[in-house]
Amino acid sequence: MASPNPRPEAPLDLEAVERELRARHEDLHTRLSGFARAPERGAGVGFGKRIGDGTIEAVSRMTDAGVGETLELSEKRVRRALTKLAEGTYGMCDRCGQPIAPARLRFAPESVLCIDCARLMR
Ligand SMILES: [Zn+2]
Repeated sequence: MASPNPRPEAPLDLEAVERELRARHEDLHTRLSGFARAPERGAGVGFGKRIGDGTIEAVSRMTDAGVGETLELSEKRVRRALTKLAEGTYGMCDRCGQPIAPARLRFAPESVLCIDCARLMR
């Protein structure tokens, strides 16, 4: 049950937010590098290929599959939220500059857009 009268100025524990975001970022980063390095199943990478080519191929494949793209987007968003924390603009919408509802930040601390802008971007 949500509080019947949530105070809009209820302070967020920014240190806790930062810890949470860093943990998420590390997790996403690990998963992303794991994807990029994962051996390709079935396709059989030619021995003559340079490692760089295989990596790019793997990345484009996982983007095609949608998985990598989602991870990448999440990673970008978390990184952006961390940057905003460092800049002191955390909790302000990146698009319209209005404050993001604290309830939204508690639910999704990586939010860099207010709910209205997030809807528009969809
Ligand atoms: Zn906005």
